[in-house]
Amino acid sequence: MKKGRLTFDNESCKGCELCVTFCPVDILSLDKERINSHGYNLISVSDMDKCIACAQCAIVCPDSVIKVEVLEA
Ligand code: SF4
Ligand code: SF4
Repeated sequence: MKKGRLTFDNESCKGCELCVTFCPVDILSLDKERINSHGYNLISVSDMDKCIACAQCAIVCPDSVIKVEVLEA
């Protein structure tokens, strides 16, 4: 099983939650505590080990915030 490691360009995030909606393993959520300099809440990953590197989150993000690194094939 592929695993993924995400990195976020947090200053570009607008907190739209599209990535949250599309993640098939439900590990993304809007973080109520972390906010970028534009006033948008950021996305947190609950359990990175469950990421299957499908890249759905990166594909749907309208602001290219998320990069998915594939760790193993
Ligand atoms: S790459 Fe896929 S499994 Fe990993 S966080 Fe993004 S949508 Fe979820
Ligand atoms: S889809 Fe992109 S802009 Fe929207 S909340 Fe997720 S990372 Fe932020």
